[in-house]
Amino acid sequence: MVEYDVTIIGAGSIGVPTALATAENGLKTLVIDTLSSVAQGDNKHAIGGIRATHSLKSKIWLCQRSIEIFSSWKDLYGDDIWWEQGGYCFLALTEEHEQMLKNTAQQQKGYGLNISYVDSEKIKELVPGINDENLKGGTFSPEDGNSSPLLALHAFYRKSKEDGAEYHFNEKVTGIITQSKKITGVKTNKAEYQTKTIINAAGANAKDIGTMLNSELPVISESHEAGITEPVKKFFSTMIVDIKPAKDKKFGNSKNYYFYQNNEGKIIFCLTPEPNIPGKDRRETSLFLPQITKRMVNLLPRLKNIKVRRTWRGLYPMTPDGLPIVGKISDVEGYINAVGMCGQGFMLGPGLGELLSRIITEKLSSKDHQILGELAYTRDFYKMEDLK
Ligand SMILES: Cc1cc2nc3c(=O)[nH]c(=O)nc-3n(C[C@H](O)[C@H](O)[C@H](O)COP(=O)(O)OP(=O)(O)OC[C@H]3O[C@@H](n4cnc5c(N)ncnc54)[C@H](O)[C@@H]3O)c2cc1C
Repeated sequence: MVEYDVTIIGAGSIGVPTALATAENGLKTLVIDTLSSVAQGDNKHAIGGIRATHSLKSKIWLCQRSIEIFSSWKDLYGDDIWWEQGGYCFLALTEEHEQMLKNTAQQQKGYGLNISYVDSEKIKELVPGINDENLKGGTFSPEDGNSSPLLALHAFYRKSKEDGAEYHFNEKVTGIITQSKKITGVKTNKAEYQTKTIINAAGANAKDIGTMLNSELPVISESHEAGITEPVKKFFSTMIVDIKPAKDKKFGNSKNYYFYQNNEGKIIFCLTPEPNIPGKDRRETSLFLPQITKRMVNLLPRLKNIKVRRTWRGLYPMTPDGLPIVGKISDVEGYINAVGMCGQGFMLGPGLGELLSRIITEKLSSKDHQILGELAYTRDFYKMEDLK
């Protein structure tokens, strides 16, 4: 029987770029997914935002590497993954947020990130037609951007197959085989495979995989909705993030929302509901569209006549502190977590994939050890990140 060096559970935002990195490093790689093709889990629900401007160094460093990979992909391999470096703009609409964003930008600059707090005039240049009532300014990070989650994952998938990765679709992992607390194989509804390492990249189902090893993972899925409009002439490039929560009769109850105009001219948008909606329900609601469109048209009145083409709902695999859980566990040798990506799995994927591959080849740098320390399974989960 063939023995794989690594078996990755899940062909999504994390599993596919990880297979790209492991296959490129010469590791015999198998990826297994229940669904019928690549990126059909929550990757395809992501709206494509990619930023390195986080507030903790683990996510900053991983996403800086992801941005290098996304931004150079077309030149290196020829596939257009719709990478656009339009930046991110977090708006300050209250004094409290102004202060918070100024402080965070200062801290982010300390990590070498290209980000500044800019005044409302600069924001008006970046977002022509924005309503400047209460607009105090905001942060702008020009090196962040966006890409198509489906085009990017398909490009990574093709390249990983060229490098030797194998994919088994329509196949569900049902068990993990160990001997003397060491991974030796994986069981599916169709077969058994010998493997030295297993990476749990099962997204919203990551907890079930942990349970197979009696490892309790604090990953709970939450429903989030998104939508897309018809195309119009391009008039802005940045991702706009409004962090001011809404809680009144006119705008309803919701936390932040964010949107950008993609390279076809369509506006793609997403909202964080208040309260959170735990569970695995992926059916769209009638609440989402009226809530977000009222907020978007109030902020950018020129959107009032644009038509919405489609909405969808997907899952964020959440952890209590909003940070992923990455790395080995002490109880079972050969098992690696790459779970709890929250709302940022697409942007983390390429950088994280390379790190996971270095765990297996034992080529971790001192930066990698710092990242793994911050994202360890054994950390204190109740310390909150500012820009979750
Ligand atoms: C509305 C919305 C907007 C978002 N916007 C962004 C964004 O702008 N930027 C960003 O970075 N992120 C965004 N996200 C978050 C992003 O989609 C997730 O963080 C990411 O997809 C999680 O990646 P993953 O690889 O862990 O899971 P997935 O991409 O869901 O992949 C997991 C795979 O594992 C498979 N699987 C599970 N269990 C098994 C099993 N037992 N056997 C075999 N296969 C199994 C599943 O079928 C699935 O294909 C958004 C999410 C939503 C819902």
